Amino acid sequence: MEQQKTNNMADEAMIDAAFQDMLSCYLASNHRKKVEIITRAYNFAKEAHKGARRRSGEPYILHPIAVAKIANHEIGLGSTSICAALLHDVIEDTEYTAEDIEQHFGKKIAQIVVGLTKISGGIFGDKASAQAENFRKLLLTMSEDIRVVLLKMADRLHNMRTLGSMAPNKQYKIAGETLYIYAPLAHRLGLFAIKTELEDLSFKYEHPAAYQRISDQIRESELHRTEIYQEFSTPIKAKLKELGLKYEAKARMKSVYSIWNKMEKKHVPFEEIYDIYAMRIIFECDDPSQEKVTCWNIYSIITDLYKLHPDRTRDWISTPKANGYQALHLTVMGPDGNWIEVQIRSRRMDEIAEKGFAAHWKYKIGEGEEESELNVWLRTIKDILDNPEPSAIDFLDTLKLNLFASEIVVFTPKGELITLPNNSTVLDVAFELHTQLGLHCIAGKVNHKLVPLSHRLKSGDQVEVLTSQSQKPRAEWINFLATAKAKSRLRTALRKEQQPIIEQGKEIFKQFISDNNLKDNNELVTKILGALHLANREELYSALGSNDITLDSNLLKSITKQESQSILSKIFRRKPSKKESVKEEKKEQISTSDTYILKYDEKGSNFKIADCCCPIPGDNVMGFIDENNEVVVHALNCPRALVLKASYGPRIVSTKWAVETGKFLATIHIEGLDRFGILQELIHMISTNLSIDIRKLNIEAKDEVFSCDLSVLVEDSNVVTDLCNKVKKINGVKQSTRIH
Ligand code: MN
Repeated sequence: MEQQKTNNMADEAMIDAAFQDMLSCYLASNHRKKVEIITRAYNFAKEAHKGARRRSGEPYILHPIAVAKIANHEIGLGSTSICAALLHDVIEDTEYTAEDIEQHFGKKIAQIVVGLTKISGGIFGDKASAQAENFRKLLLTMSEDIRVVLLKMADRLHNMRTLGSMAPNKQYKIAGETLYIYAPLAHRLGLFAIKTELEDLSFKYEHPAAYQRISDQIRESELHRTEIYQEFSTPIKAKLKELGLKYEAKARMKSVYSIWNKMEKKHVPFEEIYDIYAMRIIFECDDPSQEKVTCWNIYSIITDLYKLHPDRTRDWISTPKANGYQALHLTVMGPDGNWIEVQIRSRRMDEIAEKGFAAHWKYKIGEGEEESELNVWLRTIKDILDNPEPSAIDFLDTLKLNLFASEIVVFTPKGELITLPNNSTVLDVAFELHTQLGLHCIAGKVNHKLVPLSHRLKSGDQVEVLTSQSQKPRAEWINFLATAKAKSRLRTALRKEQQPIIEQGKEIFKQFISDNNLKDNNELVTKILGALHLANREELYSALGSNDITLDSNLLKSITKQESQSILSKIFRRKPSKKESVKEEKKEQISTSDTYILKYDEKGSNFKIADCCCPIPGDNVMGFIDENNEVVVHALNCPRALVLKASYGPRIVSTKWAVETGKFLATIHIEGLDRFGILQELIHMISTNLSIDIRKLNIEAKDEVFSCDLSVLVEDSNVVTDLCNKVKKINGVKQSTRIH
């Protein structure tokens, strides 16, 4: 009895100390001081959880207090969130209801607690359907109030920190789920510190041996590292002191998880990871107008002392990252000959970098405007989830907040999750599940409603695929498929069906080649394909085999003399235009006084593309009338065009692209640093996100650098420019330009 009493008193003291600690953190923050409601929430929760203990044996209420502290101290949230955090397990674990909470603390807090209760089951439930439902709920509650997700993050972080006292079978599940969904989510929310900690904690439970090994290696190499850091930082610190700056400088270690990741991806041992730490300088600065100049002063000090890496200065002060990140980064040569990154930030910038967007409004407290920044952000997320239109998605991408916006998640009737690119259709799901399902798919049921194959799906949809054995794959399906997988499966199937026709076409072509003593080489075929706007030999054979085009050998003599595209296109005639072609040969002299409209239709084009510069619609071009009275189109800046202009003035005609000119082949040269998955990302982006046809892909990787020549079929130069810009945004890509 006496013992019990002593224990209770000790517990009480411990609980109270934890709450006071949380409260004083809150009071030290820039939030308004709403102590009264927080204290009430604390007392309410304490009473509700009375007598309950966690598996570790400690009083249960310590968990909500810890979550509240994380929400405030590590995420930067205010009183509403602190109250919701304190109450977050009340509805689920005690007899109190949502109505009770609403009555005592108002609608907003009650809503957040209800939201948290809804997603409390974890993403990976025991049953697949529960998993699906929880995932959907997470997406929905996030769009309702982002604080639900932020608090879920705080809850998860505390559970991960105390995972050791959980049942081992639960540990594995929670760790896996954390790495799968919570860490990426934290990343997207800009919660960098939390993301890193979640990853490290998950990694520790999922790969205990590897975690231990790397931790040991970090410790073993510490002495050497400290020596280098000392040697490196001492002169910098001396200069900073001269400047009279109040600052903090530290060697910022890469996390265990990211070291492991790099070792795995690059297949290198621990010793060969050189960017294992960076020097971070955080300076105090009361006057925001002095932040930028101070950063550059520090930069100047460092570059006076050490050799600067020419391409690795990053000025995120003049142009902050979309998620608000500001800092000045530079890389210099360290004393041991290895590059060292230095990150320069003010205290304010540092908080934003560590706590994400939640730290923004901490510095902008206006009367009654406590959470306005948050609300703006929330509305954005909600808008995007409500109307997934392309421009909104682009906007989201630039904000790096594209939570599930560029990807959607749908469910099978059994509750399995399928992640697909945006704009995926029922047919994509069918192919995703099984090729045979895709090939015989006739329709789908989305949320139990019958829809056509081409129906575009939204995140959260439940999709059932309907098939029929009489259904056959169709070529036009390609037009609406979004996944590369489905497209390639469909093409393979179509090719199979086409095989006899292709064989026939091949024979016809062979016969033609030998009848006319031509050489079947790539050069000839490329010209033929270009003239007929076909992509490859297969298409040519198929067109010949199915009698879509025929060979006109009357014009054979001209080809051997002059293998130009225009002549070739006369040899290979698309059937419908056969009669017209005779007329065309006696066409009128082209007038150079009018602007010549460059057109393209199923017959071909009224112009030729110059081989030297290969312009495409949208480019600034000029025409040159050749000896066959055809307009050859050159890019305005083509060197050859300049020569033509200078020497054949009267044969130059000004040209304009017709609006609808068809599709053209453009080649893009891409260079970058090779990393695991970059090519998949590249191809995925081009073929699915941008729906551009890839016609040729030539990739070469040497050591850590890859280069890639990519031929794509596009409408005009705007598409190419847009594509180049998007490719440049892929992490690792250094160069992406159109080549001629
Ligand atoms: Mn909890």
